[in-house]
Amino acid sequence: MSDVSQSVAAHQAQSRYPLIDTHTHFDAPVFDEDREIEAQSAYKNGVEHLVLVGYLYRHFDRLYKVKRSFESQSQLQSSGYSKIKSEKTSVESVAASQLETIVPKAHIALGLHPFYIEQHTEAHLQAMAKMLDKQRPIAIGEIGLDTFTKEMKESENFAKQQHFFISQLDMAVAHQLPVMLHIRKAHADALAILKEHAYDAKALGGIAHSFSGGEQEAKAFVKLSFKLGVTGQITNPNAKKLRRAIQAAVAEYGIECLVIETDCPDMTPIMCQTSGDNSSALGKNSGQSPNDEWQKDENQQDYNRNVPANLPWVLESLSELLKVDKALLARQLWHNSIASLAQSWPYPLD
Ligand SMILES: [Zn+2]
Repeated sequence: MSDVSQSVAAHQAQSRYPLIDTHTHFDAPVFDEDREIEAQSAYKNGVEHLVLVGYLYRHFDRLYKVKRSFESQSQLQSSGYSKIKSEKTSVESVAASQLETIVPKAHIALGLHPFYIEQHTEAHLQAMAKMLDKQRPIAIGEIGLDTFTKEMKESENFAKQQHFFISQLDMAVAHQLPVMLHIRKAHADALAILKEHAYDAKALGGIAHSFSGGEQEAKAFVKLSFKLGVTGQITNPNAKKLRRAIQAAVAEYGIECLVIETDCPDMTPIMCQTSGDNSSALGKNSGQSPNDEWQKDENQQDYNRNVPANLPWVLESLSELLKVDKALLARQLWHNSIASLAQSWPYPLD
């Protein structure tokens, strides 16, 4: 057993804290072969709810398909429970807790991601607006602005990003849904739009997902009542700018301003990385053009795929960074998550 797998095993043996993975792409094809097992493993590690976040219209159906597969997995477990119950009443309570809730509950956010702006059309916006009526998600996302590559900064591209961002903020207001923001290298522009717009995070909630700005920007989003989404990047001691920004926001606003997420299959916590290749399967972090995303690629076997089961590492690093007790932090993160997603899921340990 390697040092890494030993420490992972040791970690899994520790206490289980109920957690919400506020941002995943667990519907991506890179999980097709072992999603069921990974979902069970996530639940064992504390993940009670996870959000499947949209980015391209053509994959919206996939989100619902994966959500349904979670539901049928739970139902299978429940019917297994009934059988056991009728045969052996003595194991009733144990079986109930183990079988009925063996995978996290899955939820959906629908949105057209700024990184794929070239692929979105007006027809997608209209079709999405219809879906909000018929198959109401819990949030609109991920939406925002991204000028990571040179092409994305070009005025035509950036104007289209702004148009799609504002149109989807309009939908969030019309449907009274929280938003999940994806903002990269465009914090000032995004803040300017949000300050002008009728979208009110204080009333509707909202998350600045995988927050990547500086101290002032962190505080500016929190001031607008957004929670800052913290990923596995926080586990990297070299992520100094991010760590300082999170500390600064917490110093001013308290731990109430944070939520956690895996953003899987990206953002693998440093202790779960087994390969030196930490590029995104998507090309998001490499500056490549956004053609397709998270497909199985035979050439990328060494890719450090992140999974929802890795979420406790984010809790662990945050707890160390902020010097807040893990149990206390986990409880607060739960309450922050349901506030930002406008939900009322009861904390399992209350
Ligand atoms: Zn994402």
